[in-house]
Formats: sequence, structure tokens, C-alpha cells
Amino acid sequence: MKQHDTTRARAARRMTRGRALAALALAGAGGAALAATMAERAEARPIPVASTAAAASVDAAVVPAVVQDTLGGRSGKLRARFVSLERTVTFPFLRRLLGDSSARPGVYTVQPAEGARPFSFISLVPFGEKRDGRIGRYRIGFWPAELGKSLRGKYGNPQGFIEVTPDNKDTRVSEHFKLADFLTHDQVRVWPKYLVLDEALVDKLELVLQDLRARGYDAKRLHVMSGFRTPQYNANGGETAGRADLSRHQYGDAADVWVENGAGRMADLNRDGRVDTRDAAILAEAADRVERAHPELAGGVGIYRANRAHGPFVHIDVRGSRARWGHA
Ligand SMILES: [Zn+2]
Repeated sequence: MKQHDTTRARAARRMTRGRALAALALAGAGGAALAATMAERAEARPIPVASTAAAASVDAAVVPAVVQDTLGGRSGKLRARFVSLERTVTFPFLRRLLGDSSARPGVYTVQPAEGARPFSFISLVPFGEKRDGRIGRYRIGFWPAELGKSLRGKYGNPQGFIEVTPDNKDTRVSEHFKLADFLTHDQVRVWPKYLVLDEALVDKLELVLQDLRARGYDAKRLHVMSGFRTPQYNANGGETAGRADLSRHQYGDAADVWVENGAGRMADLNRDGRVDTRDAAILAEAADRVERAHPELAGGVGIYRANRAHGPFVHIDVRGSRARWGHA
């Protein structure tokens, strides 16, 4: 009898954790109503799983259902969710989930089941950890809102940073993208680096890839030529086509991409024997269709022609309102 009670108590505890995890993940993604639904589903289908060593303290019993049903995003391809540290401190359940390590930002990966794709919860470094425009030796700079411009919402300061190390840089954020794809291209030897990245951008890029394939285009993956750009990089250096004071790149919700099928530049999508802005236009049209299907992912779509440094590419962002440039 006592044994039975203990088992039941343990099971109940596990459910609570599952609910908490689902709610938390969804709060991060923005969807309180859905969180309730997901918690129910998670409860209905607890699947025993094995955790990876890195996340040994994560009770992953309810992760698979949640991961497969909701955490995958609109594309179903997301493999990571970002969690602000404030939340992990405010909510004791997350500390229990992640163990003492939750006091530290980092990547916590769970292996939902044998053979299943790993899923990562990434705890962010709070924005306030940036001092004098840097964290540690990594130079970041200052966002417009820090420089006295009264900007809010999508143009306010980011919530926090993903700390990227040589060990975690290849963590998948989705089926076709990893953390390193979005890093600013500077300070090559400085680690850790710090990254601002919006899950919605990654989701949109996956949807664009899906759309192209569904239309019969040969599209193996999207190469991110430029993802996040620190404000200091945005202001000072590098090949930053379309650079602007309020560039979405410094908010982590923009990427300059081309369809990469192995040539190291944009693929000849329309098979006319040349690689030019007509191929980029096909990619831009895919982004257009994705926005029509998912208005909440609205943003900028800009077509850029080739120059000596790069082939044609398309800028895609999720700024929240429609913007178009470079179109014929
Ligand atoms: Zn761009």
C-alpha cells in the first residue's frame, strides 16, 4: 500500500513537471491558451524516455508529446526553444527540471526516445549581463534603444543572449539550421560568442524550404549568409548588404539566405542555365506564400543581386509587418 502511494505520488509529481514544462515553453513562444491544451495532451501520453547526460536531471517523461505536437513550431521542424533566465529563477519548477545547472545559461538537450530527434531548451544570458558593450571578451555594442532612441517592442532591446561555445555551436535549432549558422561573422577566436535569435525566424525559414520542395524545386537547404549581426558589427564592419541603423539583423529575426544545393552559391532554381535574381525571386515568392499562410510571420523580403563577393540572395525577416524591396 505504501509502495503504491509512493509510486502514485511520484507519477503525480512528474505530471506537474510536465505541465510546467509545457506551459513554460509555450509562454516563451507566446501561447497561453495552447499551453493548457498541451498540458492535457502531455498528461494523457506520458512516454518513458532516456535523457542525455547533459540533461540528466531533466525529467523528460512528458517531453515527447509536447515536443512533437507543439514545440516543433508551425513548420514542425524546430528542435530548440529559448528560455529567459528570469523565468527559470521565477519558476521553481524549471529549476527542478533543469537541476542546479539552471542557474547558468546553457543548452539543455533531451533525447525524447531512442532514435528520436534530440530537443534542446536553451537558457538565455540576461541582457543586463552586457557591460560596456560586451560580455567577457566578446564585443557586442549598443542597441538603438540603449542610445537614447525611444524604441519599443520589436525595436527594443533583446531579452537575452544565447551563449555559444565551441561545444554547443552545432546544436540544432531546427532540422536544417544550427546555432552557428546565425552567429555574427567576426571575432573568430573569441569564445563564448553571444547570439540573439528569434524562433519565429527559424520557423519561417523552414516553412520557406518546405514550400519550395512542395512546388517541385530542388532545394536541399538554405545557406545563411548573414543572420544575427551585433550592433557593433552592424555599425562598423563586414559585408553587410542592406545595413541600416535599425536593421532587423541586430534583433536576431532576419537572415540573408540562398538555396544551397552544393555549389556554394544560390542554386539555379528555374533551370535556365544561369544564377541570377530570377532565382532569388523564386525564393522570395516562397517567403510570400509562407506569409500569406501565416500572417503572424509577416516581415521583410528583399531581393539582392550578385556582386563580386556573393551570388544573389534574399533577405527574410519576421519584423511583424510586411516590407518588400529589390523586387522587379
Ligand atoms: Zn538582410
